[in-house]
Amino acid sequence: MTLPPATIAPFEGRSVCLFCGASEGNDPAFVRAAAAVGQATAEQGWRLVYGGGGVGLMGAAARAAHGAGGRVLGIMPAFLRSRERLFDDVETVVVTSMHERKQLMYDQSDAFIVAPGGVGTLEEVVELLSWKRLDLHHKPVVFLNLDGFWNGFFDLIRHSVSQGMTPSAFLDAWTVAETVEDAIQQAGVAAEAAIYDPR
Ligand code: AMP
Repeated sequence: MTLPPATIAPFEGRSVCLFCGASEGNDPAFVRAAAAVGQATAEQGWRLVYGGGGVGLMGAAARAAHGAGGRVLGIMPAFLRSRERLFDDVETVVVTSMHERKQLMYDQSDAFIVAPGGVGTLEEVVELLSWKRLDLHHKPVVFLNLDGFWNGFFDLIRHSVSQGMTPSAFLDAWTVAETVEDAIQQAGVAAEAAIYDPR
């Protein structure tokens, strides 16, 4: 399938991308937090960049940001439009592939918040972190670690460091926030230092 090139309305302010589940999860605190992230981005005058869906934590965040008067940019591959229930009350770009979706999300954003999510969220953030590992970008990546949700992931990376597979500098590639307030504060910082270490 070929789609026309995306036209995205210019936005001069800060854009923060949210990676999070297309499911709501079992803990209602996750939906509340996703909505709080959306609302906070609007209150900061930031644009929320996300996967474009109306379902799960993604949908909760986008509706809250939009409801609070914020700018939202959703980026959705055409084949997922109905499955992830495209939320087209906001600016939406429909792309052809997952790769294109991720590339646009990365390009359009100044910082990233990673809320609880499934394998899709994990895939997105691992690619983003692997690019940071190579100094392809220095944008803040903040894990919203609600109730220790991401601890298993941090342990896995620490294991890789302890086994000499990943340089310890990589542990500086992200920050961890326990609350939405802290996540917003950390997502507001300027670009971070280079971390590339070829070991
Ligand atoms: P999940 O965390 O599995 O609920 O997925 C969260 C979001 O990530 C959903 O919108 C998925 O469509 C999206 N996703 C899953 N895999 C990829 C991928 N390879 N590239 C881009 N987005 C993805």
